[in-house]
This record gives sequence, C-alpha cells and structure tokens, in this order.
Amino acid sequence: MLAFPSISNLCVEHAAAKLGTRGSGLCKKCLTDVEKRTAKLISKYEKQIEELTSQCNIKSDECSMAWSLVESTNQELDRLKMELHQKLVQTDNFEQVLDTQTDQLRKVSQNYENDKKLWAAAISNLERKIKAMKQEQALLSLEAHDCAHAIPDLSKMIEAVRALVAQCDDLKMKYHEEMAKRKKLHNIVQETKGNIRVFCRCRPLSKVETSSGYKCVVDFDGANDGDIGIINGGTAKKTFKFDRVYTPKDDQAEVYADASPLVTSVLDGYNVCIFAYGQTGTGKTFTMEGTERNRGVNYRTLEELFKIAEERKDTVTYNISVSVLEVYNEQIRDLLATSPSSKKLEIKQAGEGSHHVPGIVEAKVEDINEVWDVLQTGSNSRAVGSNNVNEHSSRSHCMLCIMVRAKNLINGDCTRSKLWLVDLAGSERLAKTDAQGDRLKEAQNINRSLSALGDVISALASRSSHIPYRNSKLTHLLQDSLGGDSKALMFVQISPSDNDASETLSSLNFASRVRGIELGPAKKQVDTAELQKVKQMLERSKQEAKLKEESLRKLEENCQNLESKAKGKEQLYKNLQDKVKELESQLDSKTHSQITSEKQQSQLSGKLKEKEEACTALQHKIVELERKLGQQHQSDSVVAALKQT
Ligand code: ADP
Ligand code: MG
Repeated sequence: MLAFPSISNLCVEHAAAKLGTRGSGLCKKCLTDVEKRTAKLISKYEKQIEELTSQCNIKSDECSMAWSLVESTNQELDRLKMELHQKLVQTDNFEQVLDTQTDQLRKVSQNYENDKKLWAAAISNLERKIKAMKQEQALLSLEAHDCAHAIPDLSKMIEAVRALVAQCDDLKMKYHEEMAKRKKLHNIVQETKGNIRVFCRCRPLSKVETSSGYKCVVDFDGANDGDIGIINGGTAKKTFKFDRVYTPKDDQAEVYADASPLVTSVLDGYNVCIFAYGQTGTGKTFTMEGTERNRGVNYRTLEELFKIAEERKDTVTYNISVSVLEVYNEQIRDLLATSPSSKKLEIKQAGEGSHHVPGIVEAKVEDINEVWDVLQTGSNSRAVGSNNVNEHSSRSHCMLCIMVRAKNLINGDCTRSKLWLVDLAGSERLAKTDAQGDRLKEAQNINRSLSALGDVISALASRSSHIPYRNSKLTHLLQDSLGGDSKALMFVQISPSDNDASETLSSLNFASRVRGIELGPAKKQVDTAELQKVKQMLERSKQEAKLKEESLRKLEENCQNLESKAKGKEQLYKNLQDKVKELESQLDSKTHSQITSEKQQSQLSGKLKEKEEACTALQHKIVELERKLGQQHQSDSVVAALKQT
C-alpha cells in the first residue's frame, strides 16, 4: 500500500472534502498548481513506471533466462542424479562383486595357506621319506654290492660244499671199505679165535745174567710172524704164537705202536685193559712205566690220549681223570690218597655195567704234565708203603685207571669209558717149601688173582652165564673193562735166560690160554665222529649256501621294490610340485585380479567423489538460483503492486 504523499500547504482532507463536494474549496490558482504538480508527479511516476517496467522486463528476461538456466541445470542435475544413481548402483555392484571376490580371494588364500602348509608338511615328509629311502637304497646297494662280492665267496663255498660232498662220498666209500675190512678182520679174528691181543716181549739178558753165564733160551727166528720158540736144554723147541713178538732189540716206541689203536677206542667210548704179565724181573714195569728217558706204555698212552682229545676238541669235549691204586693181598689201596685211611676200600656197583670204588681219588687232569705228576705221586706213595719197593711192587697189582668222559658236540652223545693200565704182580710160582707166613699169603693171593683173571677171560670166551669177576679184587675192579665190547691187550713179559726157562714156559702157557680164547664178539669200533662232523659241516654249508641264496634273492627283490617305490614317490613328488606351482600361479592371478579390482574401486571412488562434489556444487547453485528467484518474485510482486497502484 502506497502512502499518500503529503502535499505541502494543502489540506488534503479539506481538499478532498472539497473535492468530494465537487469543485468546492480550491482556488483556480491552487487548482492549476495542483494540476501542474500532479502532472509532474504523474510524469515522474510514469517515468518511474517505465523505468521499472523496463527493469521488470530486464528482470523478467533475466528471470526467464535464469529459469531456463535453472531448468537446464535441473535437467543436468537430474541427468547427473541419474548418472550418480547408476554409478552408485554400479559401485554397489562393484562392491558386491569386490566383496564376493575378496571373500573368494580370502578363501582361496586361506585354502592356499592351508594347502601350502599341508603340502609343505607333505613335501618335508616326502623329502624325509625320500632321504630315508635314499639311505636305504644306498645301504641296499652296498648290501647288493657286498652280495655281488659275496657271490665269488658263495661260488667258493659252493665249490667247497661240492668238495665236501665229494669228500663225504669218498669218506662214505672209505667207510664202507673200512667196514668191509673190519668185517674181514673180524672174520680173521673169529678164525684165529682170539679177540684179546697178546704180545710177547722178551727183555735182553741183563749184565748180571751174562756175567753169571746164563744163556738165552729164546728163539726169535719166527718173531716176525709172531712165533717165539723156547729151547730149554735138551728138550725140543717149544713154539708159541702171539699177535706179535718183540725181540730185545725192539724199543719202547715200537711196543707202544701196537697199544696205540686202543687209545682211539677209549676216546670213542670203549673200555680198554692193558696188562703186563710175567714173572718178576722180566720187564713189566719197564714196559708199562718205562723210565724218564725211555717212557713206557702208560705215559705214551696218556700222551696220545691228550693229543687226540686236542685234535677232536671242535667236535668232542673230553673230561679226563686218573686214579692210581694197587691191589695187595686182595686189598685195594688208593695211591693218590693224601692221608692214609683206615677205611677199607670196596668195589661197588654204581649202575648197569659200572663199578667204582667209593672214596677213591679221581684226579682230574688237563694235560700230560699233570698226568706225569699224578703218576709220580702214585709211584712215591707206593714206595712209602714198603721197605723194598721192587719186592713189594712185584707182589701187588699196580693199576692205573684213566676215566674218560666224552661229549660229542655235534650229536650230543655222551660216553664214559675206562682205560686200565695194569702192571700185574709177578707171576712166578713159589716152591711150596719156600712159602711161609706172609710170603705164602702173598703168593696165594697173587696166584688166585692171576688165575681168576684167566678164569674170567675163559668164562667170557665160553659165553658162560656166570663170569667169576668176584673171585678176586683184580677181576672185580676190571669187571667193566673185561668182556662186552671192551678191548684187552696183554704184554707177556719173558726173560731170555735159561735160568728162568720154566717160569717163561709157564707164562707162555698162560698167555697162550688167554690168547686162544675169544673175549666175545667185539663191537665194531667205528669212529663215526669224524664222518658225522664232515656230514654236519656239509649240511651246514648247504644250509648256509641256501640261506645266502635266499637272502640274495630277497635283497634283489627289496632293491627292485625300493627302486619302484622310489620312482613312484618321485613321480608323486613331481605331481605335488606341479600342483603347488599351479596353485601358486592361481594365487598370483587372483592377487593380480584383486589388485586390479582394488584399483578400479579406488578409481570409481574417486569418480564418485568428483560426482558428489559436482552435485553439491550444483545444489549450491540451485539454492542460490532459488534464492534469486525468490527475490525476483518479490520484486515482481512489488512491480505488480506498483502497477496496480
Ligand atoms: P718187572 O717189573 O717185571 O719186575 P722190571 O721192569 O723192573 O721188571 O725190569 C727189570 C729190569 O730189567 C730193569 O732193570 C729194567 O730196566 C730191565 N729191563 C726190562 N725190560 C727191558 C728191556 N726191554 N730193555 C732193557 N732193559 C729192560
Ligand atoms: Mg715191576
């Protein structure tokens, strides 16, 4: 509402009242003035209106321009909004894709990490296994190498086995030959009806005998054939046959040579008896004991016993012990006993075919030196018991018992055998007139025991149901070693002197009686130990060869298996490595795509930011324009009001 201008000096109300009253109140001059002034105002207002109109027009133009600008801006805005929306949607999609890809990537990396760990473990495991396998392979190749080296050994062994087989065959043949020979010999023995071997040994004429003018009554012409003749004075020559006859020239070694086979028998488990029979002074003790320079049968026998035992030690172990005793007046005396015992030594039966004297010293001996010491001890204690050693010894039986316990290490067989070495009491008969008191008793005991020996041998020969072993201590002690499968050897000692001719004849008669009797079928004395040993060796060698072959074959198989396994493992390892590589490349590509998508994302975010900025700028502009439009509207309304006015 426009305020009415105050018109100077005029009362408008008055004028108006006057105007209302038409033409009342104003003078002409005033009127003209008013009119002039009105006209001036009108023109002034018209000018103003014109100005305003032109301004309005300008503003309208501006407005329309602004409007069109706003419209175009709006359109642009809409378009941008649309674009923004699209971009947002796209971004969302991208984000989703990115999220899923990130998830996938995470999963893939997780899987990759897990797989990597697993594969690393598997690879290290495989590496370890491969290492172990390589070591094993190296070992095996070494073994194979060794085996290859061993092959010549093997062939050597095979050759040795073959040789052994041949040897065994040869031995078998020899064994059969030996058996045949033994059979033949046995037949010969049967024919000759003499199982006990009896040798006759004649000592040289002693210096005393020669100086006394005694002559030799012994004829040695047939000695080589085992014949010995006695030419006693005017009577015809009496000939005796023996398994062998030793002349005074034959030495101890020669005599022992015939006793030697019995040593093997003892070690093989047979019981053996070796006697020296003859009148006093004929050389019994010389043959059995000998002297330190000229060892007799006892020492040589024991020497050989230890020698063979040593030779057989790989197959048989021997346990040797010695007892030394004498039988005097039917009483047993232990010559190894350290203190004299009042207790009478008696013979007891320990078991089937086994007799022993309880309480008797059995000295364990390891070698010949020990034996010699034992023999010396026995000899010394014999001397202690009498005033005249020679005289005493001729009236007692001196008995050396060697007990052999053998264990065959191959077949586990155990044997116990005895070797009796007996220096018998003098066989001389005493003239009835000479025999008195102790001397008579001694003579009776000697005669009884010597004839008991003859009786036992005789009973054994006639296979009598009763063998009178108990008739004397001598035969009772020898019970295990006389008869059955035992062996016996008797040296019949004679003197060449014509002074002893009748005693010599007596001895030779006794010997002939003994020799003419067979002790019963001797068991074949086959030393199977050696054969057994060879057989065992052969068997062992065969088995060893077999085992070697088997182990070689197994080694080859193992080698092949390991090689194929190693190949398989190598292939697996290769495959795994390939897989790892593949996974790594996959991971690389995933990482790459992740990086590119990240880049894209950052690019898009940048663009988005730009767009957002542009948007805000546009919004600012819109606000500005709207404000301006508001102002325009205001001015328009003013103009309109003014116009109305
Ligand atoms: P025995 O024991 O039978 O009574 P010995 O053995 O004591 O007889 O011998 C009596 C003697 O004869 C001894 O001096 C011994 O050295 C000697 N003698 C015995 N046989 C022989 C022999 N073959 N060669 C040399 N001397 C012997
Ligand atoms: Mg003697």
